[in-house]
Amino acid sequence: MNPVDLRSDTITRPTAKMRKAMFEARVGDDVYGEDPTVNALEEMAAHRVGTEAALFVPSGTMSNQIAVMVHTRPGQEVITEATAHIFLYEAGALGRLGSVQVHILEGERGLFSSKALQGAIRGDNIHFPPTGLVTLENTHNRAGGRVFRKEEFREHLEICSEHNIPVHLDGARIFNAAVALNCSPASLVEGFDSVSFCLSKGLGAPVGSLLCGSKVFIKEARRCRKILGGAMRQAGILAAAGIVALEDMTERLQEDHERAKELAEILQESENFSLGFPVDSNIIVAAYRGNLSTEALVSSLAKDGLLVNPFGPGEIRLVTHMDLEDGDMKRAGEILVKY
Ligand SMILES: *Cc1c(COP(=O)(O)O)cnc(C)c1O
Repeated sequence: MNPVDLRSDTITRPTAKMRKAMFEARVGDDVYGEDPTVNALEEMAAHRVGTEAALFVPSGTMSNQIAVMVHTRPGQEVITEATAHIFLYEAGALGRLGSVQVHILEGERGLFSSKALQGAIRGDNIHFPPTGLVTLENTHNRAGGRVFRKEEFREHLEICSEHNIPVHLDGARIFNAAVALNCSPASLVEGFDSVSFCLSKGLGAPVGSLLCGSKVFIKEARRCRKILGGAMRQAGILAAAGIVALEDMTERLQEDHERAKELAEILQESENFSLGFPVDSNIIVAAYRGNLSTEALVSSLAKDGLLVNPFGPGEIRLVTHMDLEDGDMKRAGEILVKY
């Protein structure tokens, strides 16, 4: 029997329909702007999130880092939450590529208060790095897939707008947020200067993310993508799967959320696990209080047929996705409760 793989929604493989679309995709040289399938995907993405334009990029990391490069100048400061993906999981790119300084704010379940933000914005003083950008994340990976309602960002966006500071949304899983709230992704993106979302997670495409924003922003983003080596040629092969992902795969995310809730309920009744956070979407962060080290726990679970990722001392992360089958949550639960 195959193991139940809950390490990440990035492990999802392209569907038969995606593979067919990839096979049949009309392509051209995208560096010349001549790939019709990439152009169609970018147009569709911009339409879905309500921005003027969009850019197809190889990964979510590159997408976020291009946003930083476009919005800031070297030596400026980027304000971000202490457990944000852009700070924790992008291999130090903010410093290495962006040449920016990071200003970390401690948050509660992935969001700092608007008061803390107000206090972190630098005044006009020769000693200070100018504040160049603020980033927020929805859904929030490290905060257990937390879904933010539009209103929860309202004050943050107002403060940034008063100070003329751009705000980037790391919306890697923005469609999960939209489905969980039963609203359009565009309504969650409104007020942000740019947003990045991933095709290659819950939406099931093999590769790619979209960076979305104004026409002026995307024009410069295109140059930065070239700098980073992310400009591809007949990328329509990849974009074709992305189009299927946007057309067919967003609504079904609801199923992943239901499965996560099902497993969360089993975990809550177990002896040694408790939920790190309420389960809003497709990510469960579980705290373990048994005798095994996190490493030993993860490898024992794997031997029993359940793959999960370690997520810090005494914590594991479990992510639901479209490659799971009926009964997998029950199987996962049965394995987990033994610990
Ligand atoms: C996955 C993810 C990204 C980007 O990841 P890549 O692996 O580079 O595509 C960015 N932000 C969040 C919140 C993510 O979960």
